[in-house]
Amino acid sequence: MARKYRDDFASQDVESEPVVCSLCEQVIPNDQIEDHHLVPKSKGGKIKVSLHRICHSHIHAAFTDAQLAKKFSTISAILNDPAIQKFVSWVKTKPPGFDDEADERGRRR
Ligand SMILES: [Zn+2]
Ligand SMILES: [Zn+2]
Repeated sequence: MARKYRDDFASQDVESEPVVCSLCEQVIPNDQIEDHHLVPKSKGGKIKVSLHRICHSHIHAAFTDAQLAKKFSTISAILNDPAIQKFVSWVKTKPPGFDDEADERGRRR
């Protein structure tokens, strides 16, 4: 009896699709995925995007909820901001598992 060759189809395996950060467009390690409401929940926003923890906290450090709701309710609007552009090009140089504990931002709001 010929043994059936196992299909290379690993569709049984529920390896979840890699989640890509909407801000820096890099894959987010599972333990760093955070949801960001494009319009803050407090302003009635429902649309969420997935971001790195560090990218997410950076957005909230850069903008207030009011600003987010008014001017920065899309990723492209956020990416148009020069400070965000600077951050994104910086974060892209970091390895995938990069965590913000190591960052040397002295300023906190
Ligand atoms: Zn990111
Ligand atoms: Zn958020």
